[in-house]
Amino acid sequence: MSAMKIAVLTSGGDSAGMNAVVRAIVKAGILRGCETWIVREGYEGLVRGNTEYEDHNGHTGYVSPPPKIPVLADIPADSKILANLRFGDGPLLRDGTADIAGGRTLKGRYIVRAGWDDVRGWFAEGGTLAGTARSTTFRTPEGRLQAAYNLIKEGIDALAVCGGDGSLTGADVFRSEWPSLVSELLAQSRITQEQALKHGHLKIVGLVGSIDNDMSMTDLTIGAPTALTRICEAIDNINSTAASHSRAFVLEVMGRHCGWLALQAGLSGGADFIFIPERPPQVNPWEDEMCEAIKRHREIGKRKTIVIVAEGAHDSELNPIKSEYVKDVLTERLGLDTRVTTLGHTQRGGKPVAFDRILPTLQGVEAVEALMEANPNTPSYMIGIQENKITRVPLMEAVAMATLSREQTRSVAEAIAVKDFDKAMSYRDPEFCDNLDGFHTVSTLFKEKRLPVEQRMRIAIMHMGAPAGGMNAATRTAVRYCLRQGHTPVGIHNGFPGLLDDDLLELSWLGVDNWMARGGSELGTNRKLPDMDIGAVASKFQEYGFDAFMMIGGFEAFSALLILDENRKHYPAFNIPMVHLPATISNNVPLTEHSLGSDTSLNALVDACDAIKQSASASRNRVFVVETQGGKCGYIATAGALATGASLVYTPEVGIGLDTLRRDVRYLKARYALDEKGKSEGRIVIRNEVSSSVYTTDVITRMLKEEGGKLFDSRSASLGHTLQGGVPSPLDRSRAVRLSLKNMAFLERHHEALRKLPKQTRRAPADSAAVITIQASSIKWVPVQEMVEHADMINRRGKGAWWTGMKDLAEALAGRPEFVKVK
Ligand code: ATP
Repeated sequence: MSAMKIAVLTSGGDSAGMNAVVRAIVKAGILRGCETWIVREGYEGLVRGNTEYEDHNGHTGYVSPPPKIPVLADIPADSKILANLRFGDGPLLRDGTADIAGGRTLKGRYIVRAGWDDVRGWFAEGGTLAGTARSTTFRTPEGRLQAAYNLIKEGIDALAVCGGDGSLTGADVFRSEWPSLVSELLAQSRITQEQALKHGHLKIVGLVGSIDNDMSMTDLTIGAPTALTRICEAIDNINSTAASHSRAFVLEVMGRHCGWLALQAGLSGGADFIFIPERPPQVNPWEDEMCEAIKRHREIGKRKTIVIVAEGAHDSELNPIKSEYVKDVLTERLGLDTRVTTLGHTQRGGKPVAFDRILPTLQGVEAVEALMEANPNTPSYMIGIQENKITRVPLMEAVAMATLSREQTRSVAEAIAVKDFDKAMSYRDPEFCDNLDGFHTVSTLFKEKRLPVEQRMRIAIMHMGAPAGGMNAATRTAVRYCLRQGHTPVGIHNGFPGLLDDDLLELSWLGVDNWMARGGSELGTNRKLPDMDIGAVASKFQEYGFDAFMMIGGFEAFSALLILDENRKHYPAFNIPMVHLPATISNNVPLTEHSLGSDTSLNALVDACDAIKQSASASRNRVFVVETQGGKCGYIATAGALATGASLVYTPEVGIGLDTLRRDVRYLKARYALDEKGKSEGRIVIRNEVSSSVYTTDVITRMLKEEGGKLFDSRSASLGHTLQGGVPSPLDRSRAVRLSLKNMAFLERHHEALRKLPKQTRRAPADSAAVITIQASSIKWVPVQEMVEHADMINRRGKGAWWTGMKDLAEALAGRPEFVKVK
């Protein structure tokens, strides 16, 4: 049977991560023995195909048969390691014109064969290198007939489409029409009977690339995290100038029908007020509500004001709310020096963040699998992500849902028109609603919502272990929640030693205002556990009258909680609700899939590796051995390898042996030997710091230098503490807000139950000392005693991890078919 021929195209508005989709499909396709093609300029390229020409008289037409474009020589079949890798049309990907017979100029070659090396380096590029377009011709039956003809002509039998809901609707229309298109082409004698038979079924798969995160049946669309990052970078930059001049800024962000970007940006950027289409301000006139909120912030000494307006924002009467008008209101009513910044297309641009490299890679691999398994009796799929798992949902259903959600959007508007806001919000998913509530809680200075005095608590907050992105954001959130409820938030500096030194402070609303975007730990961290002097710790708990305790940190915080819980029987002061919020770049806390800080750290790793790779490629054929932190957990190294396209990855879980090293050297030699002359690239090897005590980064680097001979040179780079990241990523910040608020509610719930018991004999139940975990899409508190079963206490990591399969995948995508387990 001949190899399946897969073509991939990107369509609709560009989004970061589309290149990673194309790269993953080309690579996974080749690894699965397919021939891979790229369609340039979206559906427009599919309609134009390879044969459009223009002659001297300016006449255009289609050439048949298509001109023969030279294909670079295939890799020799006897090359054991890379036997399956083929090069494609190479340079033609980047260029559209060439001379063909008869004085005619080829206008475009839109469907090109793509090989392994054609997608080299695509990871780090923003937008879509394959090009995209909004094609009106593909919307017509004639256009789709021509598109079908072009595919059949090239012998392509599978198509992967990456785009927004419009693009996926187009894919679904194409799929459903396919049999009739083939019949028509046969009737017109444009294809042979044999071709008609061979192409009776088009295998098709969709991937959602859209910056708005507005597609149903997937939790996150490709490109949305990068767009959010761009917005947050802008807000962070504006914050400093706003504070310097005591100015107000109104930022307009994308989102005509969906306020996800504006809401997430408002949450992560620490904005004062947001306008989103789904939920207009509830007070009429809204100008009063906005001015009242901002005035209160200014009265307590806030020097800057940030208001975010989604481009589709409107008031409760559906009158558009425009940034310029918001600016006028702030200037005239509050006398603020106000500026407008419209972010526009900067939101689309730039390098994809780590998540927009990992997600499209996993989805691209899954898309190829779905195509491999497709037959006329299976549905066509859209690849999504739900509950942290890559999913397949029938394309037809996903598209129907997208149409439905557009109707729902209209219903939202209708509900708003009759001022039924609850109904309007009920159309959005629970996380969206949680985040909107979270935004109001952390951004608004409430005066009127205090709990009755007897329900109020003194809540102690401590950072433990190494700093991680999001620790400060979580603390800011907790402080603001506490103040809203009437609790007293007490920040303990420098961990347990700080507590014993009485280094603690009541935190204020304004005091934590800038903590959202701050990296590191504003409270200061320490690794010392409470058993350094458990009696003294208990007496301090008592002295300061703590009613509840939240620790934000990694494995140490988990261990500390365990110690405190075990000592509840000896010390009444520990019989209070206690909770741990996992925050560590190592992502080694058992059960939880994501700790705060791990996304920030991955982004820092990606940035560093992009720079290193550039230097490695520029200097010579250089291999960089990059050492990462992570303790005895290989998460950051593994996810980092997938996000940077590293050739090899060493983790503590798998370890390093002589056999591994011998095999890896052989592989690198073979890979460099296959590089086109003068076009060798830098390659990256990622090694977790404790993968082996013998085969250290230095040993491996020197060994590769020795073995590389004339083929390649080697250097090492230790990323060390840079991985703790500077500014926390928006994903870490919004997770911090969500988890911190949930924890505050947890503490209140348990405090309420405990309060009713007599103080002297009070024993806190086991479930009131817990770790908050993210498990798939659920947030669960696991009692700390239960956590022990899932922990490898010696190696300080969880017993099972969801990410372990990524190692083989990362190495397979680096071109090691002997490790191929793309399935
Ligand atoms: P974005 O979310 O960035 O707007 P999108 O994929 O929704 O991306 P659209 O412009 O709606 O962007 O669609 C992209 C292309 O998909 C269109 O230009 C058109 O070629 C094709 N397309 C959309 N809807 C259909 C349809 N109903 N039938 C055929 N083709 C369609």
